[in-house]
Amino acid sequence: MIGERIHGPWSGAAKLPTPAVYVCGYCDAGVTSDLGMQAGPGQVITICPECGQPTYHCGRLQIPGVRPGEPVRGPDPVLTDLYEQARSALGAGAHAAALALCRLITAGRAGPTSMEDAANALTEAARRITRKKK
Ligand SMILES: [Zn+2]
Repeated sequence: MIGERIHGPWSGAAKLPTPAVYVCGYCDAGVTSDLGMQAGPGQVITICPECGQPTYHCGRLQIPGVRPGEPVRGPDPVLTDLYEQARSALGAGAHAAALALCRLITAGRAGPTSMEDAANALTEAARRITRKKK
């Protein structure tokens, strides 16, 4: 589940020669990690010291990527979950999925204004990214 902490150590994870500094695509924390696995020069999987989730790095590529937008908590946990899933989908490059989730949030208009505004901002971010890739 997104945002859940991994319990227990990763088998095969070891101290890396060079720590990686990044924003975790799972928990949004800015971290420095020197624990993980290295496949070759510049190709590493790091373990987030905050949530324990793995992130793949290859040059400037990071998977999962940084989740766009800001965390927004509304009174409806279903809408909040949809919004967080949209952020994760956008960070993973699944732009169509992010747009579909944002449309679900805004179409219902059941959420607080801040949630709707946040979903609209994510929708616009997804559109900008999609336009750049064409
Ligand atoms: Zn994390």
